[in-house]
Amino acid sequence: MTSLDELPLRDDLRGIAPYGAPQEPVRISINVNENPYSVPEEVATHVIQHIARSLPGLNRYPDREFVELREKLAQYLGHGISREQVWAANGSNEVLQQLMQVFAGPGRTVMGFNPTYSMYPLIARGVGSEWIGAERDSDFEISPETARKAVALHQPDVLILCSPNNPTGTALSLETIAAAYDAAPGIVIVDEAYAEFRPDGMPSALELLPGRPRLVISRTMSKAFAYAGARLGYFAADAAVADAVRLVRLPYHLSAITQAAASGALDYSDLMLAQVDLIREQRDRLVEEIAKLGYRVYPSASNFVMFTGVENPNEMFEEFYRRSILIRDNGIPGCLRVTAGTEAETTAFLDALAEITRERPELQSKEATR
Ligand code: PMP
Repeated sequence: MTSLDELPLRDDLRGIAPYGAPQEPVRISINVNENPYSVPEEVATHVIQHIARSLPGLNRYPDREFVELREKLAQYLGHGISREQVWAANGSNEVLQQLMQVFAGPGRTVMGFNPTYSMYPLIARGVGSEWIGAERDSDFEISPETARKAVALHQPDVLILCSPNNPTGTALSLETIAAAYDAAPGIVIVDEAYAEFRPDGMPSALELLPGRPRLVISRTMSKAFAYAGARLGYFAADAAVADAVRLVRLPYHLSAITQAAASGALDYSDLMLAQVDLIREQRDRLVEEIAKLGYRVYPSASNFVMFTGVENPNEMFEEFYRRSILIRDNGIPGCLRVTAGTEAETTAFLDALAEITRERPELQSKEATR
């Protein structure tokens, strides 16, 4: 096989690595923040009927405007959002890519607060933009003042705020988001991929949409909806933003089958989301129990937690892997991330962590055990 170096690759893509979370046949996969529960039987039956109805029409291109799906997404979001304000694509990664294609692009900048979702710099690079990774306050928080200062300094064309943040779990206050918006010259995306897992009473940035035409809230059916394999992400914003992405989207980008699958699932959103509370319980259990083993756990509003106090994250990752448990080393010094699974999966993870800590005490940092 020819090597990448021998191909006439774009100069700005040389030397960068693709997204590569491992997909391995292990006993317990708690590394990419998936929902551990399968699609309920009743919903699956309904979705099959929806897809079956779309099949004879597959000789024709699908509805380019996916009107029915946008209507249902708007209803699901509430907050008085209309279907004209909603847009969807094959996963929120594609939503973000379309937004960056139209509002960033060559010679422009995309900014976020590190550490954050690893795809942001890759998508930015893919559209020819420069990624700016600003710094957070202690414990990965971002105060309104920190946000305002960094945005005012860098003046990014696109600002992307992940809340709750992957991989740290940190949620941003509406004050921080509003302060960042006021300081930003361009589009501000709040990636709420994990919003449904936030604690009761914590508001969504959807509340900030009225009167903020440069604000975009991105969501996905991959996490709380247990629909990662269906590939459906979406955003809510001023209707003009949805109009703008029409300039770059490929015609008919959402297949009739995708539209039918997503629309069918949305008819049963209550059932699809039924396990969210169980997952939140396991998340809270992880926070409590990992701390009891002498690690420091960051507060999480998501379906995963990040903990620190690991002397050698790579070695500890390998110890879990040897036990057929896949967790995530995001390359943050001293830290590992784990997704809240079923009760049994969470138990298996906690038992393994206790065992590893006991058998390989050198993998836990000295400060952590003090
Ligand atoms: N945003 C965040 C913060 C994520 O963690 C992920 C997936 N891990 C995505 C977006 C993309 O998800 P999807 O393309 O499946 O909607």
